[in-house]
Amino acid sequence: MKERIKAEFAQRFGEGGTMYASAGRINLIGEHTDYNGGFVFPGAIDKCIAAQIKENGTETVRVYSIDIDDYAEFGLTEDAAPKAQWARYIFGVCRETIKRGGVVRGFDAVFAGNVPLGAGLSSSAALESCFAFAMNDMYNDNKIDKFELARIGQSTEHNYCGVNCGIMDQFASVFGKKNCLMRLDCRSMEFQYFPFEPKGYKLVLVDSVVKHELVDSPYNKRRESCERVAAKLGIETLRDAEMEDLERIKAEISEEDYMRAEYVIGEKQRVLDVCAALEAGDYDTVGERMYQTHAGMSKLYEVSCEELDYLNDIAKECGVTGSRIMGGGFGGCTINLVKDELYDNFIATAKAKFNEKYGHEPKVYDVIISDGAHKEE
Ligand code: ADP
Ligand code: MG
Repeated sequence: MKERIKAEFAQRFGEGGTMYASAGRINLIGEHTDYNGGFVFPGAIDKCIAAQIKENGTETVRVYSIDIDDYAEFGLTEDAAPKAQWARYIFGVCRETIKRGGVVRGFDAVFAGNVPLGAGLSSSAALESCFAFAMNDMYNDNKIDKFELARIGQSTEHNYCGVNCGIMDQFASVFGKKNCLMRLDCRSMEFQYFPFEPKGYKLVLVDSVVKHELVDSPYNKRRESCERVAAKLGIETLRDAEMEDLERIKAEISEEDYMRAEYVIGEKQRVLDVCAALEAGDYDTVGERMYQTHAGMSKLYEVSCEELDYLNDIAKECGVTGSRIMGGGFGGCTINLVKDELYDNFIATAKAKFNEKYGHEPKVYDVIISDGAHKEE
């Protein structure tokens, strides 16, 4: 891929330039915790967006997307927004950098990636982080701190792409480190690296390729349940609640609100358990917690769907160490921690059984925890 980008750049724009890259991400555990002030536990993966970029001495950006086979040209003022969606991510990063007092001048770029689009691995964050990192390195002496780079990506989604996302994806893409996951505290924004080197295991995503669009905005309803329980407890978010607190007010809240809060409080503890288990190299416990998260998302938080529950059941039957829904739910991928010797059978079984029941095979993505945004040597 990198050779192809360089060749394409040379042909379109001539010699030179520097290559930058940034990664997609997984989240091992910690789902629906961000808006409850809790923890998420992402890592960058070995699927990235890479770009060859060179200052061009003008105030115009000229960029070619290899994967979409499309070219865009735009200025750096607010009224110069390009029409193509993919180019708006890059324009947004430039604008958000400038809005923060950073410097951006015209450049030529060619980019490509191998983060699957829209599969829940956050190809958009990879794209934003790649260019945010590049602008910082090329024009700002790397003076913009890394958290701000993540926020530049997040604001790009909010202000130029109409996606009201949290900070996790961009955070993971910017801060990702080989063989490390990161526990991000969504309340304090503090984070810590934990070793993730599952020797003898593979981490694999099984993508159901279904997305159920539900009418009554289930996401907002979940949020409201959590807020009601927190209010009843007199705390800001469920981050500060323990199971005993929830028991105490059980009679005063609806059964549904109780279930939602039970999941969130449990999930907070599960992330902490996984961190402790990783420090001890205990991948069995990691896997157990993943299954517990899946069960909680399915039965208590009710954000699973038939297809994802089916994939989870198949994983269990195949002896997979850990498996759960990754992402908000109602479709998308499961993330699976599988012993090497069970991998082939699991994948073959999942493909065959899923195909038999739903008429199409799931997609499969192996992932290795890798570095986030960087300049290529
Ligand atoms: P994801 O969950 O993968 O982030 P999004 O819908 O948020 O899905 O972002 C996907 C969008 O990001 C694409 O529609 C495209 O505009 C842009 N994008 C991602 N990867 C690439 C790529 N390799 N080349 C061009 N554009 C890309
Ligand atoms: Mg995205």
